[in-house]
This record gives sequence, C-alpha cells and structure tokens, in this order.
Amino acid sequence: MLEDAVKSAWQYGRRFLLNGKVADYIPELSKASPVYLGVCVHTMDGKTVEYGDVDQRFTIQSISKVITLAMALELLGFDKVFSHVMMEPSGDSFNSILKLDTASNRPYNPMINAGAIDVIGLLAPEVSFETLLAFARTICMDDGIELDMDVYRSEAFTGDRNRAIGYLLKSKGVLSGDVLSTVDLYFRMCSLSVTARSLARLGQILANGGVNPVTGERLLSAQTVRTIKTLMLTCGMYDRSGELAVRVGIPSKSGVGGGIMSCVEKCMGIGIYGPSLDEKGNSIGGVYLLEHLSKEMHLHIFDSE
Ligand code: GLN
Repeated sequence: MLEDAVKSAWQYGRRFLLNGKVADYIPELSKASPVYLGVCVHTMDGKTVEYGDVDQRFTIQSISKVITLAMALELLGFDKVFSHVMMEPSGDSFNSILKLDTASNRPYNPMINAGAIDVIGLLAPEVSFETLLAFARTICMDDGIELDMDVYRSEAFTGDRNRAIGYLLKSKGVLSGDVLSTVDLYFRMCSLSVTARSLARLGQILANGGVNPVTGERLLSAQTVRTIKTLMLTCGMYDRSGELAVRVGIPSKSGVGGGIMSCVEKCMGIGIYGPSLDEKGNSIGGVYLLEHLSKEMHLHIFDSE
C-alpha cells in the first residue's frame, strides 16, 4: 500500500537526519531545523499521501533551475538554449568554476549554477521576475509561492562566487547581458518559497508529460518535459547524480534549502523537505527516503520486476 510505503520510507529517512548538516554558506538558511523531514506524494489517480513537515515553507534554491529551464525551452526553443549550455554531467560541485574556465566555454549543464545563470541570461531580456514568479506558481499549482526577502538578501550579500561565474561567462562571450542584474534574477528565483506539496505538484506535472493532471491543461510541451527529466536523472542531484541514478533511479532535482522534487513516470510526483544535507548538498533524509520508497515500490526507472 502506498500509505505504508511512504510512511516507512519517511521513518527510515529520519534516522539519517543527524548525519547531515544544514547549509550555512547562505547565512539565512542555517536557521532551519535539521530535524525537519516532510514528504508529499501526489499520484496520477488523484491520491495524496503526506508525512511530516509538509506545511513548512522553505526556499526552492536549485530546484528553480528546472523552472527557468522550462521557461527557456518553451520560449526560446531547444536549439537556442543548448547552443549556450551543454547537457553533460559535470562531476563537480554545483557552484564550481573550474571546468568553465579550463575545459569548456559553455557550462556543462543547466542544473549547475553556471548553466542556470547562463539560461537566466538568455531569458532576462524576454521575461520579468514577476512573469517567472507567476509561471512558478502555475507549474507548482501553489499561489502561496513568494519571494523570501530574508533569504534573497542573505544570498545577495554572500553571492560573490555566483557573480564570479557571471563575469567569467561574460568574459567568454556566453552571457551578453548585465552580469549583476542577471545574477540578481538568479538569486530571486532561488529564493522562492515552496512546500513539499508544491514540489510534489511540479513532479506530478512532469510525470504526466507536461499536462496538469487536475485540469487537463497542457503547461509544458512533451519535448521540454522529456529534456528536463533526462537532465534531472543525469545531473539533478549535484555530483551524486550518477550514484543516485543507480540507487534510486527516479529523476529528481534537489536544492540546498532542503527540497527534492521527483517524478515517477506516469505514476506520481514526490516533494520532500529536509534541510539537513549530505556533503554534496542534497537533503540527506530525503535521499534515504527516496531510496527506500524506490525499493519498496519498484519505482526505479529501469526496474523490471
Ligand atoms: N542559491 C544557491 C547557490 O547559488 C543554490 C544552490 C543549490 O541549491 N545547490 O549557491
């Protein structure tokens, strides 16, 4: 039964919370309690199962990279986006500047900071923050999503590495707009407040090929969704994506605020909140929870049982 499987996965994930650490390089994030763990599952046949801290709002952080990529693919098209950014796992940490300087002019993929800042640079002349916020509310089916001003200020105050990435992209001619306003838009998108429920909705829409399963409305094209899910599987969990593709096998994207957004093809969306992180920046309880759930319910993308 789904209820039992989600509950035991949540209980299992909780055991690992104290092995991780809440992010503190953005000072405001360090205020989160490491013992929070919440999971929400929305199935395609209309069921919702939740455990733990699903009402807590937290900032979306890197999961916003999925939203900006979705907007860019819909608005500018596949060829334009991928003439700027590659589709390869980097194997480096999400905020690394190394390969961007030494190995390639184009960022490795849109799920790392360099790639996301590049994509936002493409979008900035076309859309405002308000448009992106409205889009985030629509594809997460959550009108309560707001800009968390405290996290935004904290991130802007400490965000020099991201500005450095922006300037490097500009020096290479990849980014053409103003660096500071591009990176500022990136900070704003990272500071949107979501819940495990809103992430589960986004996962559900992706699992359903881009169609809102409640209203039947198509929100994203099939090609956009296929591209995003593939990049989530190969690059969505930072430099642990390969290991988690093998162990869990569910396309997922994590953020250092503690969120994980996952989608099980044609089956369910999963949203997780657990701000205690593993050494790569993934929710530690969330990763164990997902691994347990995947095993119990045979959710691995290549499961043949
Ligand atoms: N805002 C964060 C940063 O740029 C997002 C990173 C993340 O969630 N991995 O550092």
